[in-house]
Amino acid sequence: MQTWCILLAAGQGSRMGAHATKKQFLDWQNRPLYWHSVRTFSALPCIQGMVFVFPGQELQERKQELQKLFQLEQPGVPYLVTTGGTKRQESSWAGIQALPRECDMVLIHDAARPFVSPELIQEVFQALKQGAKAVVPGLKPTDTIKQQGTSTRTLSRESLYAVQTPQGFAREALQKSYNLAMSSGIEFTDDAAVMEENGYSVQFVPGRPENRKLTRPQDLELLQDPMEALLQSVCSSFGYDVHKYGPGRPLRLGGVPIPNAPDIQAHSDGDVLLHAIMDAILGCIGQGDIGTLFPDTDPDLEGANSALLLSEVLALAQKQDLKILHLDLTIVCQTPRLTPWRDQIKKNLCNLLCLESHQLGLKASTEEGLGFTGEKKGIKAMALLTAQRQPRPQDSASGACGIQDP
Ligand code: MG
Repeated sequence: MQTWCILLAAGQGSRMGAHATKKQFLDWQNRPLYWHSVRTFSALPCIQGMVFVFPGQELQERKQELQKLFQLEQPGVPYLVTTGGTKRQESSWAGIQALPRECDMVLIHDAARPFVSPELIQEVFQALKQGAKAVVPGLKPTDTIKQQGTSTRTLSRESLYAVQTPQGFAREALQKSYNLAMSSGIEFTDDAAVMEENGYSVQFVPGRPENRKLTRPQDLELLQDPMEALLQSVCSSFGYDVHKYGPGRPLRLGGVPIPNAPDIQAHSDGDVLLHAIMDAILGCIGQGDIGTLFPDTDPDLEGANSALLLSEVLALAQKQDLKILHLDLTIVCQTPRLTPWRDQIKKNLCNLLCLESHQLGLKASTEEGLGFTGEKKGIKAMALLTAQRQPRPQDSASGACGIQDP
């Protein structure tokens, strides 16, 4: 007794849209998608060999690829390669004809179902071994299903199954049924239907919700590892600003007026802390700095309230779905003493940025009398921002599976 797997990888993937690579050949974790099914099937002792059905126009390329992958991973099963047709039925037929004589049970699997589990394959195999001629994984629909005719009617969910692969068959019965089907000219949507047409009963084993078929472009998101997606969406950015002390404007930090402090020289209100924060946010969305966005040559910005400028920057960030996760701030100056104002500054920043207290760190330091801050010539602020970006559609497509755009 020998059981072989026919892996159908000849589909054109027309519902996938404009992707240049057919879905079964998309790169996932450095391997073509179909290879993930090869690993699952070949690791099972019940599988004695594999037949690959590839599109004719890519046959040579795919054969070479297979040869490399077999050398690299040594799946330990013999394999054969054949060319599929334009319809699924033709591809299955090609696969069946390529089976070696000693094979007497067949599992036919869609290469676009990379999440098939060893348990499901075993269950299909066991049912065949116990004498079933056709075995199909079926999932009961969870939605109510209606049929539209001259009037609509509600179908009983009890009797309905959404059908998956691998579908298992006794080889002889399958071959006979296909012989008849191919000469009848009738088109069938799955292999079990060919058996039904020839009077065989089909046995169901429970399908698996995770055994999804990748059909539409958005299904490719299924391939993305959640941790990888999270890491790709997190970004951090640094902001830095300095202002000189001198006759000019009263000192404000984080939107809070600081009395009895040196004046600040600035075109805007000179809020060094808000400026560092704005630069950090702009860094995360790849939009330059506040000097470009709000030039100090713009007469309208004379004495501008930096809290209002911040709201403009936040609006830009929101357009790119940037969500601030954390902000760590350090103000450096020899004078004034900031301890009395620290809580008020932090509270105001949390309000301006819609952050919780634990999401914002605020530190104040001196430089021990050194440098321009030590000489009380000015003040500086630094901001380290951590944020989460929603991946844009083109990011997620290329990031998820390394699709090469034409
Ligand atoms: Mg500034």
